[in-house]
Amino acid sequence: MNDCAFCRIAAGEAPADKVYEDDALCAFLDIRPITRGHTLVIPKQHAAELEDLDPEVGAQVFRTGHRLALAIRRSSLRTDGANLVLNDGKAAFQTVPHVHLHVVPRRHGDTFRFAQGFLLRRSRDPIATASAIRHGIVTLDTEGPAGEGRTEE
Ligand code: 5GP
Ligand code: ZN
Repeated sequence: MNDCAFCRIAAGEAPADKVYEDDALCAFLDIRPITRGHTLVIPKQHAAELEDLDPEVGAQVFRTGHRLALAIRRSSLRTDGANLVLNDGKAAFQTVPHVHLHVVPRRHGDTFRFAQGFLLRRSRDPIATASAIRHGIVTLDTEGPAGEGRTEE
């Protein structure tokens, strides 16, 4: 195993609050969340940057981020939207050299700032948060295909 922190999480060799996993990808809570429920989606196979990533896997990563954003909105975290962000390369402030898509839940009127000091970011109740997101996925799955069962606000 290499010394990549996210490869170790994907392999189950380092702890993480996982909310989703399949053969190709996994998703887990960010250890320093910008907002509650901040989740990272990664390919299991190591790719440092987009240059190294199979575009098909990139599509799967986005599809999972999309699904998680919908699931989080249906979860007890009671969010109103999300930022889906991928920092590609050091120039774009990528700090972990294993491709990851951020899913950052948002609420109307929240005071979130991407530039918020790294040290100010604290995880709050990650076990309950991960559980809420997993329940959101179940809720989403019972709704059927995208859009079905949703009522317009
Ligand atoms: P980047 O700036 O590379 O786009 O974001 C990296 C993210 O990974 C940061 O938000 C940081 O908090 C998160 N992170 C770094 N190391 C770990 C780790 O070991 N476990 C988890 N769950 N998140 C991590
Ligand atoms: Zn890796």
